[in-house]
Amino acid sequence: MSGKHTRRGDEADAQDRLGRLVRRWQVPATEALRWRPGTDVRSLDCSATPGWDGGRDAGEELFEGQAVELADLQERLFADGRTGGTRSVLLVLQGLDTAGKGGVVRHVVGLVDPQGVMHRSFGPPTAEEAAHGYLWRVRNALPRPGYIGVFDRSHHEQVLVVRVAGLEPEPTWRAHYDEINEFEAEVAAAGTTIVKCALFVSADEQRSRLAQRLERPDKYWKYDPGDVDTRKRLPEYLDAYQEMLERTSTDVAPWYVVPADRKWFTRLAVGELLLDALRSLDLGWPEPAFDVEEERRRLAAT
Ligand code: AMP
Ligand code: MG
Repeated sequence: MSGKHTRRGDEADAQDRLGRLVRRWQVPATEALRWRPGTDVRSLDCSATPGWDGGRDAGEELFEGQAVELADLQERLFADGRTGGTRSVLLVLQGLDTAGKGGVVRHVVGLVDPQGVMHRSFGPPTAEEAAHGYLWRVRNALPRPGYIGVFDRSHHEQVLVVRVAGLEPEPTWRAHYDEINEFEAEVAAAGTTIVKCALFVSADEQRSRLAQRLERPDKYWKYDPGDVDTRKRLPEYLDAYQEMLERTSTDVAPWYVVPADRKWFTRLAVGELLLDALRSLDLGWPEPAFDVEEERRRLAAT
């Protein structure tokens, strides 16, 4: 048997295996995780794996197996942007401290060429940012055509921390729901596919993740004493999340609710949602803007 034949056989086996793993999604992630109006966020099971019945090992195997497709689709998107295309993808990650937003960026977004990613994390506004409306810094961070934009926290903080910490009067933050929807409709109309993921970690799992940060000198830097104060206000944050989901999940910018107590599932799920967004763009490869035969001849003559 030739080496070539064996390799092709191996590839077919790998594809079969991947196909079997994909079918462990009993319900597609886009359906299983999509925010359903009326859901009570307090009743969410943060260790559940909605839609997925394959368990951890199969989940990790599928996640790893899909890396090639993710990278391929990202390259197509980038090529499209380089040749006049207007499309982009924006992944919005919201979640309380330790929910795993950073892990999603490292492990999921980290699978694609960093040159095609526009990543931005949003903390308290700087003095310059505060001098503008809250959407100013967000507009500046939107992905250009061909890019995958990633927001680690986002303009939605304007109805989360701003509400809970009382940084604006209620009529002001209440007006943001409609403003956010209008803004996102405009962004979507300009060619950006928006995928919003709300990561939910349970109070117990959050305590244990924060405790880990206090046990390891190499994790101290991640620990923020303010996180404990935020924990004390968990019920208020849940109210804020509830209303954010109710008010800002739209057809052009739907929220997906991602249980985050099992890191492998968070990554599998967000990876799947990102893949779905990229697949739905149905990206081919750009046609050459030159005569390929002619260029081959010219090159051969050199
Ligand atoms: P981290 O994600 O751990 O870097 O923390 C970022 C911090 O910035 C969190 O405590 C957020 O609540 C806070 N933050 C994000 N956006 C805003 C905002 N618009 N106003 C005030 N604080 C914010
Ligand atoms: Mg933090």
